[in-house]
Amino acid sequence: DPIEAMEFAQSKGKARKEGQTSVTFGDVAGIDPIVAELQGIVEFLRDPRKLAAIGGRPYKGVLLDGEPGVGKTLIAKAVAGEAGVPFYQMAGSEFVEIIVGVGAARVRDLFRRARVQDGPCIIFVDEIDALGIKRAEAGMETNEEREQTLNQLLSEMDGFTPETGVVFMAATNRPDLLDPALMRAGRFDRKISISRPDQKARTDILRVHARGRPMDPEVDLEQLARNLPGFTGADLANLLNEAALSALREGHPSITPFDISSAVDRVVQGVKRPALPDRLPIKRAFAVHEVGRALVASVLRKQHGRLEPIERVTMIPRGSQWSRTVFKRARDEDYTMQTRGRLLDRLRFMLAGRAAEALYLKDRQPTTYSLGELVDASRLAHKIVANYGLSDVGITIWATPLARLRDPAGLLENKIENSDDQLFAHTSPGGMWQPADQTLHRIHEASHTLIREAYRADLELIAGRMAALGNAADALLERQTLTGEELSDILARFPATQPPADLQ
Ligand code: ADP
Repeated sequence: DPIEAMEFAQSKGKARKEGQTSVTFGDVAGIDPIVAELQGIVEFLRDPRKLAAIGGRPYKGVLLDGEPGVGKTLIAKAVAGEAGVPFYQMAGSEFVEIIVGVGAARVRDLFRRARVQDGPCIIFVDEIDALGIKRAEAGMETNEEREQTLNQLLSEMDGFTPETGVVFMAATNRPDLLDPALMRAGRFDRKISISRPDQKARTDILRVHARGRPMDPEVDLEQLARNLPGFTGADLANLLNEAALSALREGHPSITPFDISSAVDRVVQGVKRPALPDRLPIKRAFAVHEVGRALVASVLRKQHGRLEPIERVTMIPRGSQWSRTVFKRARDEDYTMQTRGRLLDRLRFMLAGRAAEALYLKDRQPTTYSLGELVDASRLAHKIVANYGLSDVGITIWATPLARLRDPAGLLENKIENSDDQLFAHTSPGGMWQPADQTLHRIHEASHTLIREAYRADLELIAGRMAALGNAADALLERQTLTGEELSDILARFPATQPPADLQ
C-alpha cells in the first residue's frame, strides 16, 4: 500500500538481529545440491588464512538467489552457526530512505559494528535488490539516496581484504535486476541458487519442523509432502505451526491427521472471514467512513494531483479491516519523493474517514473505527514538523529513535540553533538527541495545528458533498466494491454544494 509505504520507511532500520547464532545445517533440509559449496564457506570462515595460503580463491561476497521462503536467511545463519562466527543481518529495504545520506549512514553503522568484533563474520543483507537495483530499472529518476547507499556498500566491501574472513551474503529473488557493479570480481561474485523444494526435500523439511512436536503416528509426512507441490520451506513450516495450533485448540495431545488437514485448508485457502451481516447499523458506519476517505482522496487528486488514483473501495474484509481504499500504483508518476503538499494530502486522507462519520452518522456520533488512522495521522503530523522540518516551526533537528545513528549526514552538532526561532537541541548524557522543552512544545503545537487544519478542511470538503457521500455509501453497501471510476461517476453526478455555514 503506497500510502503506508513511507510510514513503514520510517519505522524500519532498528530491527537488527545479530551476534551468535545456534542454527546449524541440521536445521536446514533439502540443501544437498549446495551443501558442498556451503561447506566451503564454513571452512573458509573457520580459517581464512589457510585457503589463501594454499592459493584457493577466498570467499567474499556470496549471492543467494531464490524465491521468498526457500530458506535463504536460514542458510546464511546456518553457515554462521556451523563456522561459529557472528551473524549481522539487515534488510536491503532498511537502507532505502527518503532522506539523502541516511541509508549510507546505516551501511557505515552496520559495517562499523562488524569491524569492532574484529574477526571472521557474516554480514547478511536480505532483499539486496531494494538498494542494488540497476539504474535503468529504477526508472528515469536518478535517486541520489539509493546511489549513495549503494556506493557506500561497495566501498565498505572493497575495504575488507579476504584474509579478514568477513563474508558478505546477500539474498535476492531477482538477480537479473542487480547493478552490475555489485557482481564484479571481489564483490558478490559467487552465486548460489536455491530452488523450491522437490518432494523429497519437502518431506525432509516437514521432518525438521516436526522435530520436538508430538506427532500422532497416523500422520504420514511423506504422503503430505506429495500433496503440497510448490510449497516453500516457509510454507511448510507455517503449515506445521498451524497444525500445532489446531491440536491445541482441539485439545489433542499430539498433532493428528485432522489437525494437518485443517491446517492445509487454512494455509491453502487463507483464513476466511465472514462479511458483516447487512442489517448491522455499524456496517453503514464503516461504509460511510470508507467512502469518505475515498471521496476526499479522489477530490484532492483532482485538485492537486499529489495522491495516487483510487483503484477501488471495498468492504470485503481482510485481516483486521472491514473496509479498504486501494490506490493504483501509477507507473507514470513517481511518488517516492515526498513533498510537503503530498504529505498534507495524505494527512487529510487519514482523517477523512473520521470526518465522514462525524458528519453523516446519526447525532454526529462517530465510532471508534478510525483509531488506526488517527494514530497514523498523529505520527505523520509529528514527523512533518519534527523530522522533516516542513511546518511553520522551521527546521528542528532532534533525535527520533531512527536518528540515533551518529550524525548521519553531518547535520547534527552539539547544539543546533534555529536561526528564526532561537530553538535549541541538546545531547543528553546518554548521547541521545533531545529537543529542548521549548522546542518540544512547539513541535506538539505545530503537529496539533496541522491535524486540526487538515480535519477541518476534510469536514468542509465532505459537508459540501453529502449527497455524493450518501449515494456512494449505498452503492458500496449494495455492491461491496466500487471502482475508482464508479466513484468518480458518483462524484460527477452529485456536484459539490456550499457547505453549511456552521462549518465555516
Ligand atoms: P528466505 O530468506 O528465503 O525468504 P527464510 O530463510 O526466511 O526464507 O525461511 C523462513 C522459514 O522457513 C525459516 O525460518 C524456516 O523455518 C523455514 N524454512 C525455509 N526453508 C527451509 C529449509 N530448507 N529447511 C527447513 N526450514 C526451512
